[in-house]
Amino acid sequence: MPRSLHDLTFDQLREVLVGEGLRPAHTGMLWNTLHYRAMADPLAREDLPPPLRRWLTRVLADGSWMLDVPPASSDTPSSDGLTRKFLLRLADAQEIETVIMGYTGRHTACVSTQAGCAMGCVFCATGQMGFVRHLRPGEIVAQVLHAQRTLHTAGERLRNLVFMGMGEPLHNYDSVMTALDIICDTRGLNIGPSKISVSTVGVVPGILRMAAEDRPYNLAVSLHAATEEERARLIPANQRWPLAELVAACRAYNEKTGRRIFFAWTLIEGVNDMPEHARRIAELLHGLDAHVNLIPLNRTEGYAGNESTDSAAEAFQLILQEAGFPCTVRQRRGIDVAAGCGQLKAAKNRRKAVVS
Ligand code: SAH
Ligand code: SF4
Repeated sequence: MPRSLHDLTFDQLREVLVGEGLRPAHTGMLWNTLHYRAMADPLAREDLPPPLRRWLTRVLADGSWMLDVPPASSDTPSSDGLTRKFLLRLADAQEIETVIMGYTGRHTACVSTQAGCAMGCVFCATGQMGFVRHLRPGEIVAQVLHAQRTLHTAGERLRNLVFMGMGEPLHNYDSVMTALDIICDTRGLNIGPSKISVSTVGVVPGILRMAAEDRPYNLAVSLHAATEEERARLIPANQRWPLAELVAACRAYNEKTGRRIFFAWTLIEGVNDMPEHARRIAELLHGLDAHVNLIPLNRTEGYAGNESTDSAAEAFQLILQEAGFPCTVRQRRGIDVAAGCGQLKAAKNRRKAVVS
């Protein structure tokens, strides 16, 4: 398997180029081509210095290096025009989801970190698929570049990024952090760390590592239940990292970094959307610097639950706000393109199953 140039940070790229006898100054040129201009074919750039062009032509042709430019096997706009969802096809034919959410003038890309997911959350289409494999840094960066190219044709630039697509980012920690180093590089995509959110189901060692390494991204923690029993029913990974340990890690993160944590709560009718649940969140998170995001469930094939009513969501929100927690109900957008994590891929698998 050839190595991918998109896997490399700036310093790693320079090391490779210098090792190949090229000038260190060529690094900036190639980096600018791949990550600032986001060119799918760097050889299409006419002003490449001849030695760099010769090297690139040779290594791409002999297969010692490759690029991560996965084609979109589907591209689905939502009827409200605010969401566009892509299935990108990787070299081994795995398909991953990348979504562009275009809230008025503030574009956000939502990227995947794994093909499938090992965490098995019962309401999640990706969890229902099981784990296939981790993505390499280049495969994560490629999704951001794809979003950037798409927006560029509309004369826009990508500024916000969330790791809320398929997979559990902190189960693929090293690749995700390398990808983030590449994505935040000011000579390239230059997305500000404060405009990036990493969402985790609660991989405790990963949260502590982010704090220890002082990673400057926003951290979102998917909570969904506020007792061990209820959470274990929805999130099998709760057995590995129980709620008590998770909340302790969140407190440690708060203290070490001084950064607020964004807790996500998927509202499922009759399961976790009653006033008593809201009150339990307030007790559990007491003293934490926390924001709670309420997200009505997107229905999936493999789970019988329904989304909460608007009035239940509002009552839930009010209890948390009165307890002193900033709390928002996230608008549901692009439902018609199955905008929930893993749902487009799941829908495609169902169609396949019908055909075969
Ligand atoms: N694995 C990470 C990030 C990807 S999932 C995590 O779980 O946090 C991103 C968010 O989508 C999580 O908060 C997850 O709980 C939520 N989610 C998954 N399936 C959903 C569904 N069917 N409806 C609503 N939210 C869902
Ligand atoms: Fe994995 Fe997140 Fe889905 Fe849970 S919600 S199965 S952790 S992608």
